[in-house]
Amino acid sequence: MGYAMPADAPISCSWQCHKDRNPPSSEPGTDIACAYGTVIWAPYPGTVIEIKTSNSGGMGRFVALQLDDGRTTRAIHMSAVFVGVGQRVDKWTHLGLSGASGYGSDWYYGPHVHQTLWPGCYWCDATIDFMLYVGPDPEPEPEPTPRRKWEETMVYAAYRDDNGTIAIQHYPRGRIMQLGDPNEWAAIHAATGAGYHQVSNQYLADKMAWYGQAPFPDMEHSTGMVVLVDQGTQQRYLLAGGALVQLVDENTIGQIDGRVPSLWISSEEIANIQRQVNGEESEQRK
Ligand SMILES: [Zn+2]
Repeated sequence: MGYAMPADAPISCSWQCHKDRNPPSSEPGTDIACAYGTVIWAPYPGTVIEIKTSNSGGMGRFVALQLDDGRTTRAIHMSAVFVGVGQRVDKWTHLGLSGASGYGSDWYYGPHVHQTLWPGCYWCDATIDFMLYVGPDPEPEPEPTPRRKWEETMVYAAYRDDNGTIAIQHYPRGRIMQLGDPNEWAAIHAATGAGYHQVSNQYLADKMAWYGQAPFPDMEHSTGMVVLVDQGTQQRYLLAGGALVQLVDENTIGQIDGRVPSLWISSEEIANIQRQVNGEESEQRK
């Protein structure tokens, strides 16, 4: 953090100008030609180490600060002092008002503020040029742009498996992620209008394996089964492990119902599936 100028006004005599005086200034500093009564700012965070509130002496009213960077500084010839010894100040704290005080007069000098800087403790060394340390406040941290959760996924596929698990696949990277919170899917759907592909656990697991991913934990317990229900006769068939088994035992049906997804289809479609699992479909593929 750079120092603040004690007041927003032009320099009338620089540190070097004070040194070049004949005789040289006893306290070379920077004169800033601000009007009488201008607010004087603390240049940097620190603590007030000395004040003088009378116009006596050559310096008149002043405020001296121990800055947090180890340097010391004071503003002299003031017309009013607002702070007390021991008080903490920040950069831009109002220390008082500019004036022209000194030698028992409020108008001994032309109105200005004289700012002195020492490299260490108060009066320990020769003064240094205050202006070398004047600089802007640090750039404010840019507002963090809210990270768009799905900005990388301009294109993706979504799947909903037998367990109701919704997974999305990023393109082009391909990684498949499980959406833990159904609201996430709702948000994606609202934002993109994307729909999902209804797929089996196996399909999703296979696809993840292809990308070198382990299946989701709950997929390990997935049944990979589906009950086909004949729309006409309501006869149930269990499609599992590449076999189609007609379910006749009410007890078995009771156990399976609600735990295995069911698909209500026509007897023709069931007959087609029966032919496929019997290998007749693979004949056609050849
Ligand atoms: Zn001066």
